[in-house]
Amino acid sequence: MNEYDSNRIFDVVEKIGYKKTENQENADCYIINTCHIRDKAKEKVFHEVGRVKKIYSNKKKPIMVIAGCVAQAENEEMLKREPFLDVVIGPQSYHKINQILDNFQKNKKKDETEFDTISKFDFLDKVKNSDSKVSSFLTIQEGCDKFCHFCVVPYTRGPECSRPFKNILSEAEDLIKNGAKEITLLGQNVNAYSYYENNKELRISNLINELEKYSELERIRYTTSHPVDMTDDLIECYSTNKKLMPFIHLPIQSGSDKILKLMNRKHKVEDYINIYEKLLKINPLIKFSSDFIIGYPGEEKSDFEKTLELVKEIKFINSFSFIFSSRPGTKASTLSQVNEKFSKKRLIELQSLLFQNQIDHNKSLENKKISVLVENRIEDQNKFFGRNEYFNSVIFDAEDKDIGKTVKVIIKNSNQNTLFGKIENKMKAA
Ligand code: SAM
Ligand code: SF4
Repeated sequence: MNEYDSNRIFDVVEKIGYKKTENQENADCYIINTCHIRDKAKEKVFHEVGRVKKIYSNKKKPIMVIAGCVAQAENEEMLKREPFLDVVIGPQSYHKINQILDNFQKNKKKDETEFDTISKFDFLDKVKNSDSKVSSFLTIQEGCDKFCHFCVVPYTRGPECSRPFKNILSEAEDLIKNGAKEITLLGQNVNAYSYYENNKELRISNLINELEKYSELERIRYTTSHPVDMTDDLIECYSTNKKLMPFIHLPIQSGSDKILKLMNRKHKVEDYINIYEKLLKINPLIKFSSDFIIGYPGEEKSDFEKTLELVKEIKFINSFSFIFSSRPGTKASTLSQVNEKFSKKRLIELQSLLFQNQIDHNKSLENKKISVLVENRIEDQNKFFGRNEYFNSVIFDAEDKDIGKTVKVIIKNSNQNTLFGKIENKMKAA
């Protein structure tokens, strides 16, 4: 979502004459967009600011802006600690950036961190999205009301808010005109999308079905979804919608009901497995990925073993796994922590299983012909980058004219993270 937000911040500041520069030494304004989900985020930001400060030690400094969730959480504290910083803007206020930059230049007003999500969406709906990637992001929903006990999102992104249905489609049309062949719908809980029009609730399933009608659009994805919001209408899309990719990132966090309850996740392992089974019944080729938190307060060896069992049962092909990171202001931060030595050991054990799943999945595609959407040429190389239906990275020989096309690639070899191959017709020509 920060990638999407950064692009939209650029679309806004472009209106008052700013241009992107690749040359870090000559910026008039320097914006760092930040994430606060895990610990050390704040220190990373100050580290980056220190780096920029060095670049400008002998010249006129740029207006230095910190945007995103670290700005939201730390607010004026950041400005007090580092005088080189000029402005902090929270994720629900960045549509006001032009006014904020103007105010700063006139009277040094420095922070804007109110939750103003509805007016942000209203404002941004009037600013064309200039993103011109083959695979583009599109935010449909922001914020969260679920309050998992470990998570800062409800505090930094604010309450759940869904964008008007028509405005999302109109932004999708712009992205398609700009060349998008794949759209990934975004939200902190993307499948909680809910918008009322003429007393009728419109959900993410309605959006997916509308998007399918755009003939130039080839692929639809969405992320990140929550198990509680995996409703039957969305599951049904996997049988009716040909453009919805057969890959779903559905975080479970832990394989133990006890831990899910302590996390306030509002579902059990069995509910997750039911979703998995329903989807597999519709399409046995659907693959899953997940997020895991290891060493959550209260996690015992037996809880961790349940997570391992789940990973053995559902062969996630790609996942994010981290040790629990205590976040200020959350309920879990008040609980007693699992010994770090145990958490580290457990993380290594879990990851070796997850990585093996990933390697096995990639190996299973070797010598097979797979569909790849060609996204771009890799800088300074004669190779191209794209993704298969399962969101695996694929590197292969192609030509510039193939960018934006879905081609058949024969996979020659693979490693844990990437598949390598050649476009089918190029094999024949060779
Ligand atoms: N809303 C989605 C859900 O609940 O499934 C996930 C969105 S959250 C922004 C992304 C991931 O960050 C979570 O799934 C979780 O695994 C991880 N995360 C959030 N807070 C964390 C914490 N305090 N420590 C470690 N990982 C955390
Ligand atoms: Fe955070 Fe997701 Fe839980 Fe919301 S549902 S609090 S975003 S982990």
